[in-house]
Amino acid sequence: MAFEGLSEKLSAAFKKLKQKGKLGEKDVKTAMREVRLALLEADVNYKVAKQFVDAVTERAVGAAVFESLTPAQQVIKIVHEELISLMGGEVSRLHIPSKPPCVIMMCGLQGSGKTTHSGKLGKLLKSQGHRPLLVACDVYRPAAIKQLQVVGEQAGVPVFEMGQGDPVEIAKKALGHAKDHGNDIVILDTAGRLHIDEALMAELAAIKAAVGPDEILLVIDSMTGQDAVSVAESFNQLLEITGVVLTKLDGDTRGGAALSVKAVTGKPIKFSGTGEKLDDLEPFYPDRMASRILG
Ligand code: GDP
Repeated sequence: MAFEGLSEKLSAAFKKLKQKGKLGEKDVKTAMREVRLALLEADVNYKVAKQFVDAVTERAVGAAVFESLTPAQQVIKIVHEELISLMGGEVSRLHIPSKPPCVIMMCGLQGSGKTTHSGKLGKLLKSQGHRPLLVACDVYRPAAIKQLQVVGEQAGVPVFEMGQGDPVEIAKKALGHAKDHGNDIVILDTAGRLHIDEALMAELAAIKAAVGPDEILLVIDSMTGQDAVSVAESFNQLLEITGVVLTKLDGDTRGGAALSVKAVTGKPIKFSGTGEKLDDLEPFYPDRMASRILG
């Protein structure tokens, strides 16, 4: 599970602090050096790691935790609060406007888990009383349409497809289809590539311009760590995403993407994927993640 190594290293650093009893500024700085290294080993972006320990140090020194009876606990409390804030603070929910249909555009690189998570999101929204429609906008791989159909069937969510046509036209037609069939949420499963390229971005921009999505969710694979964060930075610059779906958290032992993506892009992680099954989707809870890290 995510954060294993980080948890261990932080608890070792804090154990030393706790053994000290009375603390001085130097002790906090030493501990923060260890925290910084642990964050870097967890594949956290180096700027993010530096800002994080600076913020904790400043607060710890400023709050005169040294006079408290349990100074180490106070430092840990500050670390906890700063971890929550680093991952976005509050849970960030989907923005679903009152006037349907709400359009959610799923994008990301091939293999990130886009199709699976389109299905997971469809299933979740259906369980909340919505009537979602999945739309096959990945027209380049015939297998992708089939895969979405399989996922749709498993999720009990209808799928709109027009074979290998123009994805912009498909997205537009899907909106009409949703209105005619009473679907209040349209989830567009767009094409991915192995790398970010101009053609992919131009296509996504054209779909965005044509349908004006309420949410543009970027699906990134947490196991790819800092690469996932760079992908998020590029997509956000080119497309202005509204949030991130962080997938494969079940296989990510480090947690660097979870810890860096909000700070680097300014965009919240809205959901996390924790397995291959369609029920393995959870809202991203920064406070629970922080508690997990601190054990
Ligand atoms: P796409 O190319 O972005 O549409 O990616 P897919 O949805 O086809 O997913 C790629 C692979 O990752 C598939 O084998 C999925 O079963 C797997 N996968 C997707 N999400 C998760 C997840 O949260 N955890 C795990 N362990 N595997 C996942």
